[in-house]
Amino acid sequence: MTGFSLSPEAAEPRLQVARHSLELLRTVPALAPRYEGRPEPRTLDDLAALAPLVKDDLNVALAHLEPKAEQGATWLFQSGGSTGAPKVGYAPTGFYMSGVHAHWQPLDRADVFVNAWGAGRMWGAHFLVAALADLSECQVIALGSVTREEYADWLAFFVDRKVTAIGGTPSVLRMWFAEARAAGLSLPALRKVLWLGEAWQPQLADDMAVVAPRARRWGMFGSTETWVVGTNTPDCPADTFHPLPEQLVHVGEDDLLDFTTLDPRMLNPVLRYRTGDAGRLVACPCGRPGRAMQVLGRRDSVVQVRGLGLHVDQVIARVEREQGVSRAQILITEDRGRATGVDVLLLTDQGAAVDTERLRKDLLSATFTLSTAFQHDPESVRVRRVDALISNERTGKTAGFVVREES
Ligand SMILES: [Zn+2]
Repeated sequence: MTGFSLSPEAAEPRLQVARHSLELLRTVPALAPRYEGRPEPRTLDDLAALAPLVKDDLNVALAHLEPKAEQGATWLFQSGGSTGAPKVGYAPTGFYMSGVHAHWQPLDRADVFVNAWGAGRMWGAHFLVAALADLSECQVIALGSVTREEYADWLAFFVDRKVTAIGGTPSVLRMWFAEARAAGLSLPALRKVLWLGEAWQPQLADDMAVVAPRARRWGMFGSTETWVVGTNTPDCPADTFHPLPEQLVHVGEDDLLDFTTLDPRMLNPVLRYRTGDAGRLVACPCGRPGRAMQVLGRRDSVVQVRGLGLHVDQVIARVEREQGVSRAQILITEDRGRATGVDVLLLTDQGAAVDTERLRKDLLSATFTLSTAFQHDPESVRVRRVDALISNERTGKTAGFVVREES
């Protein structure tokens, strides 16, 4: 058994795309040395022997290669990195969504679909899903992102238009459903909730059950470098996706996932590209044959605090189990590289009583890194309620942790 999503019989006849990607990467001066002496991938074993690409590698390659679509426009999108100037990924019009639509049809002609992914700022998801809606021949309401004061009016419009489907990142969807729930509003026609860009949030399902009891989730997994890798349906666990046949998924050391494109139209030379996500190949409980990919979270969620590794996801999971806490985020404040404080920020349910001081003590005693690193100044570890978590304005995503330099 190999660590690939496809069998050798299915994948090896299509490895000419991987060989072409390798040929391109070998023309990039900064990357050529790592491929020296490596044979062209003819088998999955050859492929597994090639060095993986990490985020910056692909940006370096793209800056050198400047790929162009065979037909129509070449679109530039934000890719990788969460700070500084945008890095750039490329895609042709259509964003490879015909391949996705061939295997996954959450929308149909009868749907009225609200596209709530942010548009503009070189974000990809809004346009990618617009291409899917085009193939699905449904009605589209291209909404994009709205401000908090606008939710009520738009929700009334959704009811009026009998909206049947909505899509966005889970953070954005959570805002929509939480607002609707708080306003006592229901969306009786809503059946489908499409999501992409972050892990699913169980709290979202709670709000959906109240606001739109007949709505179910339909997920995509991917990145601006790989584009859509896999999809799932309401019958699959939220963390499990069925890879598309033109996406070869591999589980490498430390359970790190890497992706190789088998699509000859792909502009990004995606060859053993690591997104930083860990995962494993499983049989999906939905019963669909073939190997599915279960995403286990990011391996880069360990952050150094005073020389010790803090497992951000573990701390957040612990805090989010607390009654009344809907979401948590860790804010690390630094002064010239040294952590001066850790704040655990809480979004709480309306009217919920959360004992932040008790939670803080629990966290300190249960988290080795925090208790050890802050042994002499435990008061620098704080737990506090906030009105909003800190989002990245460029990507519209809300990360598990944020590091800020003290001003
Ligand atoms: Zn499934």
